[in-house]
Amino acid sequence: MIDVCDIQVMKPLLAEHGFHFSKAKGQNFLIARWVPERIAEESGVDATAGVLEIGPGIGPLTQQLALRAGKVCAVELDKRLEPILNLTVGEFSNLEIVWDDVLKQDISALVEDKLGGLRPMACANLPYYITSPILTALLEAECFDAVTVMVQKEVALRIAAKPGTADYSAFTVFCQFYAQPEILFDVPAHCFLPQPKVTSAVVMLKVRKSLPWEILDKATFFRTVRASFAMRRKKLQNGLAAGFPELGKEAVGQVIAECGLPENVRGETLDIGQFAQLANAIYRRKNHD
Ligand code: SAM
Repeated sequence: MIDVCDIQVMKPLLAEHGFHFSKAKGQNFLIARWVPERIAEESGVDATAGVLEIGPGIGPLTQQLALRAGKVCAVELDKRLEPILNLTVGEFSNLEIVWDDVLKQDISALVEDKLGGLRPMACANLPYYITSPILTALLEAECFDAVTVMVQKEVALRIAAKPGTADYSAFTVFCQFYAQPEILFDVPAHCFLPQPKVTSAVVMLKVRKSLPWEILDKATFFRTVRASFAMRRKKLQNGLAAGFPELGKEAVGQVIAECGLPENVRGETLDIGQFAQLANAIYRRKNHD
């Protein structure tokens, strides 16, 4: 197997194929072998797993996943990588590459089609310019056991944040609604070529099998969350009133009181159970008034 993380191997390989990194495509390739090894190992990929990888690049993580998984389906946007991937991962009969933009895919249909019958998992060193849309699509597909991704450390901290902290955001609630995140380890910038400006971290999102909260209407729940964070450091009542103009400020105040929350509570201190309670109260009021 070609050691694609060895810079003495990688640089001539890229040069031979006239490959230049595309910043616009978020191309920062791994040059430290322990990183893809550890991602594949700690993500729990084994022979029962069907893994969707996003952005294989020249294949360092793909190799480690294909060594362990039942099957790997890798989606890569940049067709220039095809001749290189043929050399670096061509030997794996349990690997299929889909040449397309991952954001144009129907993820659950792709997983069913390519990885049906296996335990579905997602694993990737993500292109950072589209971290949020990719994570959103992976979680909303509601088809994975776990999603393990390398992201900017600051994003990993937001994904795993606790209520009331500076990192806690609507994106935190979105991720923790679908999954239980755990930051596995940090990856310094010098592990990539070219070096990104930021430290990275690998985060594992264990997808919830069932929701521990009653949610009457998912759309109202996420609208409540977005409205609650839209005016940070302002009273929740103001954010919710702006997000639900059809209710009016007084009714919003009553909903907050109904949920047993203090009048001057701030949205960013609420946990998911409290957001669920608020959203359900809003939903009932809108549908019964
Ligand atoms: N997995 C490789 C590694 O760890 O060295 C490459 C990771 S690099 C950070 C991100 C990869 O995602 C690149 O190969 C890039 O071409 C690919 N990519 C960028 N945008 C994409 C998209 N919309 N759909 C699929 N792949 C994409």
